[in-house]
Amino acid sequence: MSLTLLTIRSLMKPKRALILVIGLSSAISAVLLARGDVRAAQQDQKKYSQTPTIEEYQPRSTLVTKEHKIERAKFPFIDIHSHHWNPTPEQADQLAKEMDSINLRVMVNLSGGTGEQLRQTVATMKGRHPDRFVVFANLSYDDIDTPGYGKRAAARLEHDVKSSGAQGLKIFKNFGMDVKYANGERVRADDPEFDPVWDKCAELGIPVLIHIAEPSPFFDPWDYHNERWLELKQFPGRARPPGRYPPFETLMAERNHLFAKHPRTNFIAAHLAFHGNDLERLGKTLDSLPNMYVDIAAVLAELGRQPYSAHDFLLKYQDRVLMGKDIYDVNEYKWYFRALETRDEYFEYYRPRHAFWRIYGFQVPDEVLKKVYYQNAMKLVPGIDPKPFPE
Ligand SMILES: [Zn+2]
Repeated sequence: MSLTLLTIRSLMKPKRALILVIGLSSAISAVLLARGDVRAAQQDQKKYSQTPTIEEYQPRSTLVTKEHKIERAKFPFIDIHSHHWNPTPEQADQLAKEMDSINLRVMVNLSGGTGEQLRQTVATMKGRHPDRFVVFANLSYDDIDTPGYGKRAAARLEHDVKSSGAQGLKIFKNFGMDVKYANGERVRADDPEFDPVWDKCAELGIPVLIHIAEPSPFFDPWDYHNERWLELKQFPGRARPPGRYPPFETLMAERNHLFAKHPRTNFIAAHLAFHGNDLERLGKTLDSLPNMYVDIAAVLAELGRQPYSAHDFLLKYQDRVLMGKDIYDVNEYKWYFRALETRDEYFEYYRPRHAFWRIYGFQVPDEVLKKVYYQNAMKLVPGIDPKPFPE
């Protein structure tokens, strides 16, 4: 190159030679740049023609349509399904402050425990913010192998409610699946040993929020057709293989039998009773069990993928559905507001592993919204001050 330039320069007058040199060098760098671009493009093409993993593939929607981002619920609401283990006074204060920012009026802490732990949790949460928190008690299974367990558990619950201030009972998902007698026998969801507990709840006028089973795909083979493939990859422990767990349908039958056996006890089946993917079935189950209610905690994506059916279901069963969120994060409630209050289309869900799909708003009328947000919870949970809630 320099030889060529020299030759050209020797043939020309200095000024013209200088112009030519500048012109040539910018042409050369343009060629080099273009080559670089081509190489980068080729690399990109190679990279992007490879199949991405499911976790890598995050297409950005090009859809342009109306969006209504709602940071605050239209009405004050009750979260019937939240978990706060042994909160400190500072945590309770912080919670109350965050709740104000989204119009969350009353939070139900389902993880109160029993005995001294329960008493302490109520004292911490309700002692500081009496009308902002509700605490549910839990059962201890420690003495399940000692005869008379059911009656003792019922007596402990009565104490938790009458002396310590619990306002409901929460049954965690290990019940029906992992709780076992010493001889290895699984405690069935409708085990008569627990009858005194459910009857005690009716007597005390408190609801039972109960988590039976898991999403049905967790009981299915973990193959490429499984709707929860990603979640089972990220959390293999959530799988419920047949060798170690009863089938999904067995648990559903036991649960329905339990509810039917105790018609005076109000049961709130968590997570749309795991029938969010089959609202017709859920409707029939609710029809046959008048003491059954459901919350929508952590199953919003089920409703959001079928906005017409979800809308119709909520209208028909408006007295049976309660607002709940499960894992607490003040920034995640807005998806619930947007789904319940708007007709927004095809928006991203906050937990991709729950749903490989976007969701749609199914906007319900204000009368229905009020029932879901607070009126149904107020009917079931004793001792909630109605004053802050509109008629
Ligand atoms: Zn929960």
